[in-house]
Amino acid sequence: MTDDPLLSVQDLRTWFHTDEGLLKAVDGVSFDLKRGETLGLVGESGSGKSVTNLSILNLVPPPGRIAGGRVLFHGQDLLGMPGGAIRAIRGDRIAMIFQDPMTSLNPFLRISTQMMEPLMLHQGLGRRLAKARAIEMLQLAGIPGAERRIEQYPHQFSGGMRQRVMIAMALSCNPEILIADEPTSALDVTIQAQILDLIKDLTQRLGTAVILITHSLGVVAGICDTLCVMYAGRIVERGPTGEVFESPRHPYTQGLIRSVPRLDRKNQFVSCIPEGDTEKGPERLASIPGQPPNVIDLPECCPFHPRCGQAMDLCRRRYPPATEPGEGRLVQCWLYPEEAGHER
Ligand code: SF4
Repeated sequence: MTDDPLLSVQDLRTWFHTDEGLLKAVDGVSFDLKRGETLGLVGESGSGKSVTNLSILNLVPPPGRIAGGRVLFHGQDLLGMPGGAIRAIRGDRIAMIFQDPMTSLNPFLRISTQMMEPLMLHQGLGRRLAKARAIEMLQLAGIPGAERRIEQYPHQFSGGMRQRVMIAMALSCNPEILIADEPTSALDVTIQAQILDLIKDLTQRLGTAVILITHSLGVVAGICDTLCVMYAGRIVERGPTGEVFESPRHPYTQGLIRSVPRLDRKNQFVSCIPEGDTEKGPERLASIPGQPPNVIDLPECCPFHPRCGQAMDLCRRRYPPATEPGEGRLVQCWLYPEEAGHER
């Protein structure tokens, strides 16, 4: 892994003009992805993580539009590229998989047709070589009897097997980046673990960098090098996954971590604990009180303040500045302004 970012997302802003007002789904998101790195974007529904990834590939549906920022891939801004150039990158050098494979798989076409077409189009392979590569990828993805099953239709596969097909298809052109948007949310727990193991194993073997979007911190813990926590369209905390789990700075991240079941805690039960309550028992699982905010016409304050047990007056008046409490770490919270030289 070199230090040069493969992908650099800089001050990305994606806004939707709705009848109710301006919805800033993504508002100033920045992060770098290095070669071979796995980066997790975590947050509740509506935090902006999926729109961030659609924005990276210029796939934001109307009435959304990219209002600002840059997405540099090998130094070239994907947001300024003509349609043909970005289409050549999608699926070939940057691939995506989604929660529901049926949104990407055509139910009327055999798997062979769907896997071979991109290999012939993007990689210039002939039919025989494309089929051999597709079978090899299905085998790597753990599909038994791949030579036979490649001639089947998507409905002949179980949910877990369909996701394996999607992963095989996405990685068949050897992309530099795989974007996986909630790839296991629709699957049973045991199958989820297998699919995550498969993504980790295959991408490590192929040297593919991964952006993993999930609402579950448990998912990123086992697979991601770097963790970005999103809230109301912004990254509120970022850092190496182990460090963030060890010493979370933002009260929202602290709440998320307290809500993850741990094998080293006994007799856990769910309870609503206000942020900053030090009386929590080691056996308690805390849920974060309240609901994520409506991000339409959000005022310029900390949007987490109604749910935060440590909120101060300032939090209700101004958005906190970014602070870097250590190498590779970032937090946006008024509890740490001194570390950035800002004044409360
Ligand atoms: Fe809580 Fe204030 Fe930090 Fe927001 S800025 S998370 S309200 S302490």
